[in-house]
Amino acid sequence: MKILKVAALSAVFAAQFAFAQFKQTPLPYAYNALEGSVDAQTMEIHYSKHAAAYVANLNKAIAGTPQEKQTLFQILSGVSKLTPAVRNNAGGHYNHELFWTVLTPVKNTQPSEKLAKAITETFGSMDAFKEKISKAGADRFGSGWAWLSVDKSGKLFVSSTANQDNPLMDVVEEKGTPILGIDVWEHAYYLKYQNKRADYLNAIWNVLNWKEVSRRYDEALSKK
Ligand code: MN
Repeated sequence: MKILKVAALSAVFAAQFAFAQFKQTPLPYAYNALEGSVDAQTMEIHYSKHAAAYVANLNKAIAGTPQEKQTLFQILSGVSKLTPAVRNNAGGHYNHELFWTVLTPVKNTQPSEKLAKAITETFGSMDAFKEKISKAGADRFGSGWAWLSVDKSGKLFVSSTANQDNPLMDVVEEKGTPILGIDVWEHAYYLKYQNKRADYLNAIWNVLNWKEVSRRYDEALSKK
């Protein structure tokens, strides 16, 4: 009897672990930690409703498909062959998980020397880079993202994608490993900034986590 119970329990656990259920990582700061730049209500709705829905819908969309056993990276890099629901929600999940980490309440974080040098060499100056990525975000018609990524040859580039697409997807023109993503969906800023997306894009620099962007830069280069 006891053995049967154990066997039944094992079967339940095995069934659970057979599925790659994607999950949100906890937000690394309080909802109100970025006040002044990103308000608490926006953060709470963004994390607990919008981002939570992407992961729930991703799990639903891949249930019973081979993608259940894939990593998020594998899903994104082969997304052209998958359904719009997988594309939108896998992108949504990846993009937000990255976004939370590149923001921080810690003031005046700085890029590593290596990243600062690469930014200056690629874009002319830090200000020129900020202008370029802000413009990419401001010019994105409708919803989407502005990115700083590392391409196949290890070079930095700025791009923008629509909806929840990102540079890891095989469907996008400019492919690479994103190290900084800025959400320019209205849900990311509308409560505080209304239609003034440019003001939100300016304020993001006050809460940017350059330490994390630098870490992601090193990681992207190490995979070349
Ligand atoms: Mn968002």
